[in-house]
Amino acid sequence: MNDRSDDSELATATRIVGAGRRKEWTGPVVNPPVWRASTHLYENMDALAEGPRRNEDGRFFYGRRGAPTQWALADALTALEPGAAGTVLYPSGVAAIAGVLLTLLRPGDVVLMTDNAYDPSRAMGTGLLADFGIETRYFDPLDLSAYERAFCNRTRAVLLEAPGSLTMEVCDIPALARIAHERTAISILDNTWAGPTGFAALSHDVDVVLMALTKHVGGHSDLMMGSASAGPELYKRLRLRAQSLGHVVSPDDAALALRGLRTLQLRLERETRSALQIAQWLSRRDEVAAVLCPMLPGAPGHDLWKRDFTGGCGLFSFVLRGGDAKRRARFIDALQLLGIGYSWGGFESLVVPVDPSPIRSVMAWPPVGADSADRFGVRLSIGLEDPQDLIADIEQAFAAMDIV
Ligand SMILES: *Cc1c(COP(=O)(O)O)cnc(C)c1O
Repeated sequence: MNDRSDDSELATATRIVGAGRRKEWTGPVVNPPVWRASTHLYENMDALAEGPRRNEDGRFFYGRRGAPTQWALADALTALEPGAAGTVLYPSGVAAIAGVLLTLLRPGDVVLMTDNAYDPSRAMGTGLLADFGIETRYFDPLDLSAYERAFCNRTRAVLLEAPGSLTMEVCDIPALARIAHERTAISILDNTWAGPTGFAALSHDVDVVLMALTKHVGGHSDLMMGSASAGPELYKRLRLRAQSLGHVVSPDDAALALRGLRTLQLRLERETRSALQIAQWLSRRDEVAAVLCPMLPGAPGHDLWKRDFTGGCGLFSFVLRGGDAKRRARFIDALQLLGIGYSWGGFESLVVPVDPSPIRSVMAWPPVGADSADRFGVRLSIGLEDPQDLIADIEQAFAAMDIV
């Protein structure tokens, strides 16, 4: 088989099968073997001297710069991200976010962060970034004019996420990224939800796209990893900074992530179908005040999702009508098929309560359309179970919710 990972005219489903499977890394087998390596041995002194001069994937140097297993994963992610010159791997999604911000920002800079960012991203604003003399300002990604006004001459970068964490609003990513460019700021997108098959970030004017591979790329709730992809100049800076921070991922986890990647699109398609079916069912229930699911017509940002995205996933939220935290706890405790747990994107369905108020500065909660009494949110990560079984489970848990 020829190496076809650069065949950008092939459909995504075809490219995802071949991506990263370079002959020199796989040898005669299908997958790149797990290369467990710290030391790389050199033939002679000349080869040793050459090592540090060629800092690129595919060049042995020392374990911190990886080996074929990690290179194959990075190469595959790059192949799936049109416009990317390379991909840097990080030991977790949070490490990817911190690694990107610590590459692009300097003391005195301002970063604009979407108000509905992943909670640990927000926490970096008041913690890590503040400690380094970097100021974070939060903005409502649905209010373009307020966003434009938020720029100042110290704004170096913008952190976007779509759909927003927990509340799931889809914003106009190309417009937000273009405005950032006009103000000479670098746009960063946390694209964990859609992934490379669901949203082509760099083709929509985003400069740096990052993901928690922990979620759908891993896909089996058994590894932690993050990635960031970018064009040539930014990729080089990200790579050097990741190396200076000592970021490296284990070859075993890289092999698992590659295995997960092969079925990514297939799992996402199935999850999207099931999630939409469950979201539609929920939207007809009296127990539910609002369904926050980008794939559902009428949900916040649904039109932008339809315009810009090529896929969805199983993660969405809904708001219970009225009630209190104890009633919601009875609902969640009564669920049999959905596990209570953080993270998402595995093959198994999960549920967590959602209370965004403490982690929003400008956006409203309860969401627009819900009554002020409708405050108790629930987030579902729909996995690969039969959606009818999940609906039956949710229905019996609704019944259990009001039995005190
Ligand atoms: C989970 C998550 C992360 C962080 O990933 P970890 O691997 O858990 O550190 C980042 N962004 C989003 C949107 C996430 O859901």
